[in-house]
Amino acid sequence: MSKVKEITVNVDEFLAIDKYEVDEENAHIELVDDPDTEEFLKLVRVCPAALYKIDENGAKSFDYAGCLECGTCRIACEGTIVKKWENPQPTMGVEYRYG
Ligand code: SF4
Repeated sequence: MSKVKEITVNVDEFLAIDKYEVDEENAHIELVDDPDTEEFLKLVRVCPAALYKIDENGAKSFDYAGCLECGTCRIACEGTIVKKWENPQPTMGVEYRYG
């Protein structure tokens, strides 16, 4: 029987290697005002960068800085609480440095 080498991946370490050029003038993702909680919870669960948050008081927050441009939130909630999703302007957004 062959031995399989186990590899542990720390996602936070990989994400910290990436470079982000945040377009402060133009958010490439926008949500509706006062987003529905059930829809927002979908985004809390699916965003791989954990950019959608609900605190202990139920306050919702989202910051597009750190977005990986994966499009998952668009697929999950475009037409409900995601009112705008565009690719960042040229030279803006994430620059992957590993993989
Ligand atoms: S595109 Fe991906 S990384 Fe960016 S906010 Fe949406 S789910 Fe998160």
